Amino acid sequence: ERRRLAREWHSPAQTKDGHTVEILANVQDEPGAARAEASEAAGIGLLRTELSFLNTPTEPSVEEQVEIYSSVFRHFPGQKIVVRTLDAGSDKPVAFASVPDEENPALGVRGLRTSGIDMGLLTRQIEALVQSAKRHDGPSWIMAPMVSTVAEARWFASMIREHGLTAGIMIEVPSAAIMIDQFLEEIDFVSIGTNDLTQYVMAADRGNANLATYTDNWQPAVLTLINHVAQAGIRHGKPVGVCGEAAADPNLAAVLIGMGVTSLSMASGAIPYVGSRLATVTLEQCREAAAAVLEASDPNGARQAALAVLNG
Ligand code: PEP
Ligand code: MG
Repeated sequence: ERRRLAREWHSPAQTKDGHTVEILANVQDEPGAARAEASEAAGIGLLRTELSFLNTPTEPSVEEQVEIYSSVFRHFPGQKIVVRTLDAGSDKPVAFASVPDEENPALGVRGLRTSGIDMGLLTRQIEALVQSAKRHDGPSWIMAPMVSTVAEARWFASMIREHGLTAGIMIEVPSAAIMIDQFLEEIDFVSIGTNDLTQYVMAADRGNANLATYTDNWQPAVLTLINHVAQAGIRHGKPVGVCGEAAADPNLAAVLIGMGVTSLSMASGAIPYVGSRLATVTLEQCREAAAAVLEASDPNGARQAALAVLNG
């Protein structure tokens, strides 16, 4: 039944009572952008630029980068593209950007922190993104991964806005979620990376199968932080997206919308499942489900509380 509903689903995503939900795709390259287009994504919510370079020994030139980014952008004329600057390090090693032999790579020089070692990498990537954005006739938003201080957010935003582009950060380090109000004064939008946020909130390696109960997407501690960020977004009138795996769980997607999250970005294959599920619930049900999960003390309790409301 879920498969049938997904097969029959078409964009735009809407709740049962007609509230439009922005569903975007997570993409890493041109073939992925083609799949995202076919899945009727409303745009790209996370372009993981580092994944194009996992097997690239040396840094691609600005011209080569423009080619790569433009080939992705071309699939979404007139639509929103959210690009993440290089998130090298830890689970995404990039030969020309990684710091070798760290004892704790997940807590090491990764994401935006790489710029502290080699600033030129970031400025050349931004140059390539600016050129790609000029060729794109829709909005181009640029965000930084692994931001943990307000000063980093301010510094990154000033570099991006200098070129007239929209600047944001990923919320995937607990410090940024906790201090979200101060961060939102510096930037135009945020996107919550629930994979890393969960890893750091629960102190559990996201790739370790033995720790899967800790990294469950329904961990109430993580949901409480997401709600905190979404509510801050509403107060500041700034978009709060979710681009981690949590957004691809159809029931959790409904909960996130109920919390006030303004867009969901996910693997293309998940889009029709999330879209068709949202079509079965009202915005009020989403809000009630969001309130219910915040009362739960464990992941199963949260899941059951949400389902009771969403299926009710
Ligand atoms: C995340 O951390 O949730 C995220 C979306 O980024 P990545 O999975 O690429 O680290
Ligand atoms: Mg991440």
